[in-house]
Amino acid sequence: MPRIDDLEGLLVQCDALRRGHFQLSSGLHSPAYVQCALLLADPARARRVGAALAAELAPHRPDSVLAPALGGVIIGHEVAAALGVPFRFVERQGEELALRRGFELAAGERVAVVEDVVTTGKSTRETAAVAEAAGARVVAIGAIIDRSGGRHGFDCPFAALLALDFPTYRPAECPLCAAGTAAVKPGSRPRPVV
Ligand SMILES: [Zn+2]
Repeated sequence: MPRIDDLEGLLVQCDALRRGHFQLSSGLHSPAYVQCALLLADPARARRVGAALAAELAPHRPDSVLAPALGGVIIGHEVAAALGVPFRFVERQGEELALRRGFELAAGERVAVVEDVVTTGKSTRETAAVAEAAGARVVAIGAIIDRSGGRHGFDCPFAALLALDFPTYRPAECPLCAAGTAAVKPGSRPRPVV
């Protein structure tokens, strides 16, 4: 069974996991930031991570993989390739996630929903709801990283390759700000020295 021994080390090595003092897109501050796109930028590495996640999902015998665009597309495709099943994605149509581009799910189809990072679990739950509204059955959910701290609210088996639970702070209460450092917006500046 393909395994990744030190995914956290790999994330740090490719700069996908940064430690320091960050302002997240939510406006909250955090001592860590994860950008899975950097992990998946190397196709061979993406394939290896996809195979590892596929091994976790295989016991649930999915007929296909469904992922939310954009974050879930690369890892979802790699998982589907490793399982040898079709891959489809949902994307925003106005406020709602929807199957577009002629993608269809069969009644009773066993679907695995795949994400890169689960934080609140909202887009994953929305993706599962689209599958179920189409008559399919969500048999498992998989993610590279679980940042939910167990608060994802999924009602089917959930597998993640790595659990990370970093604190977030409102700026006024941020101990890193109190210590006198400035929060960095990831992606908006040269990479911080950590
Ligand atoms: Zn701060």
